[in-house]
Amino acid sequence: METRVEGGAIFTCETCSLSTPFTYFGQKPPNTRAIVLLEESYVLKDPFSPDREKFIVLGSSCTVCSKVVCVGTECSLFYTRRFCLPCVRENLDQFPQQIQVELAKKKAPLHT
Ligand SMILES: [Zn+2]
Ligand SMILES: [Zn+2]
Repeated sequence: METRVEGGAIFTCETCSLSTPFTYFGQKPPNTRAIVLLEESYVLKDPFSPDREKFIVLGSSCTVCSKVVCVGTECSLFYTRRFCLPCVRENLDQFPQQIQVELAKKKAPLHT
Protein backbone atom coordinates (compact mmCIF):
# COMPACT_ATOMS: atom_id res chain seq x y z
CA MET A 1 0.00 0.00 0.00
CA GLU A 2 1.50 3.31 -1.04
CA THR A 3 0.04 6.71 -1.20
CA ARG A 4 1.58 9.70 -2.76
CA VAL A 5 0.02 12.78 -1.31
CA GLU A 6 -0.40 15.84 -3.45
CA GLY A 7 -0.65 18.33 -0.66
CA GLY A 8 -3.17 19.52 1.81
CA ALA A 9 -3.17 16.22 3.66
CA ILE A 10 -2.71 16.49 7.38
CA PHE A 11 -1.21 13.98 9.75
CA THR A 12 -2.84 14.09 13.16
CA CYS A 13 -1.62 12.10 16.14
CA GLU A 14 -4.63 10.62 17.93
CA THR A 15 -2.79 10.62 21.22
CA CYS A 16 -1.23 14.08 21.55
CA SER A 17 -3.17 15.82 18.78
CA LEU A 18 0.00 16.90 17.04
CA SER A 19 -1.13 18.01 13.64
CA THR A 20 1.11 18.70 10.68
CA PRO A 21 1.01 18.32 6.91
CA PHE A 22 2.66 15.25 5.43
CA THR A 23 3.84 14.54 1.93
CA TYR A 24 3.95 10.78 1.73
CA PHE A 25 2.57 7.66 3.37
CA GLY A 26 4.30 4.36 2.82
CA GLN A 27 7.58 2.57 3.29
CA LYS A 28 9.72 4.09 0.61
CA PRO A 29 9.72 7.87 0.42
CA PRO A 30 9.98 9.26 -3.12
CA ASN A 31 13.29 10.68 -4.35
CA THR A 32 15.27 8.56 -1.96
CA ARG A 33 17.65 5.97 -3.27
CA ALA A 34 18.26 3.43 -0.58
CA ILE A 35 15.82 4.25 2.14
CA VAL A 36 13.16 1.74 3.05
CA LEU A 37 11.37 2.38 6.29
CA LEU A 38 10.68 -0.40 8.78
CA GLU A 39 7.02 0.40 8.74
CA GLU A 40 4.53 2.30 6.66
CA SER A 41 4.93 5.81 7.92
CA TYR A 42 3.65 9.30 7.50
CA VAL A 43 6.58 11.20 6.07
CA LEU A 44 7.28 14.84 5.52
CA LYS A 45 10.01 16.00 3.22
CA ASP A 46 12.34 18.10 5.32
CA PRO A 47 11.42 21.65 4.34
CA PHE A 48 14.60 23.03 5.87
CA SER A 49 17.02 20.88 3.97
CA PRO A 50 18.12 21.37 0.36
CA ASP A 51 18.97 17.68 0.35
CA ARG A 52 16.20 15.91 -1.53
CA GLU A 53 16.71 12.77 0.47
CA LYS A 54 16.14 14.39 3.81
CA PHE A 55 12.78 13.64 5.28
CA ILE A 56 11.10 13.43 8.65
CA VAL A 57 9.09 10.47 9.86
CA LEU A 58 6.04 11.88 11.61
CA GLY A 59 4.22 8.79 12.73
CA SER A 60 2.49 5.58 11.84
CA SER A 61 -0.50 3.43 12.76
CA CYS A 62 -0.66 1.31 15.89
CA THR A 63 -0.45 -2.37 15.04
CA VAL A 64 -3.09 -3.24 17.61
CA CYS A 65 -5.76 -0.54 17.47
CA SER A 66 -4.87 1.16 14.17
CA LYS A 67 -4.83 4.57 15.76
CA VAL A 68 -2.57 7.05 14.05
CA VAL A 69 0.18 8.05 16.44
CA CYS A 70 3.29 10.18 16.17
CA VAL A 71 6.76 8.80 16.85
CA GLY A 72 7.08 10.84 20.04
CA THR A 73 8.15 8.73 22.99
CA GLU A 74 5.05 9.81 24.90
CA CYS A 75 2.76 8.50 22.16
CA SER A 76 4.18 5.35 20.67
CA LEU A 77 6.90 2.76 20.74
CA PHE A 78 8.54 0.80 18.00
CA TYR A 79 9.20 -2.80 18.89
CA THR A 80 9.31 -4.81 15.68
CA ARG A 81 6.11 -2.93 14.91
CA ARG A 82 4.52 0.35 15.95
CA PHE A 83 2.42 0.34 19.11
CA CYS A 84 0.65 3.26 20.72
CA LEU A 85 1.48 3.60 24.40
CA PRO A 86 -2.02 2.70 25.64
CA CYS A 87 -1.76 -0.61 23.76
CA VAL A 88 1.74 -1.18 25.12
CA ARG A 89 0.44 -0.67 28.64
CA GLU A 90 -2.46 -3.05 28.04
CA ASN A 91 -0.18 -5.77 26.72
CA LEU A 92 2.87 -4.96 28.75
CA ASP A 93 3.54 -8.55 29.80
CA GLN A 94 4.12 -9.42 26.15
CA PHE A 95 6.96 -6.96 25.80
CA PRO A 96 10.51 -7.65 26.91
CA GLN A 97 11.49 -6.58 30.38
CA GLN A 98 13.68 -3.80 29.08
CA ILE A 99 10.63 -2.10 27.58
CA GLN A 100 8.58 -2.71 30.70
CA VAL A 101 11.27 -0.96 32.72
CA GLU A 102 11.48 1.91 30.26
CA LEU A 103 7.76 2.40 30.43
CA ALA A 104 7.59 2.18 34.19
CA LYS A 105 9.88 5.22 34.29
CA LYS A 106 7.40 7.25 32.31
CA LYS A 107 4.48 8.78 34.03
CA ALA A 108 1.02 7.78 32.99
CA PRO A 109 -0.58 10.01 30.37
CA LEU A 110 -2.60 12.87 31.75
CA HIS A 111 -5.55 12.18 29.54
CA THR A 112 -6.66 8.58 29.45
ZN1 LIG B 1 1.65 12.13 19.49
ZN1 LIG C 1 -2.93 1.10 19.92
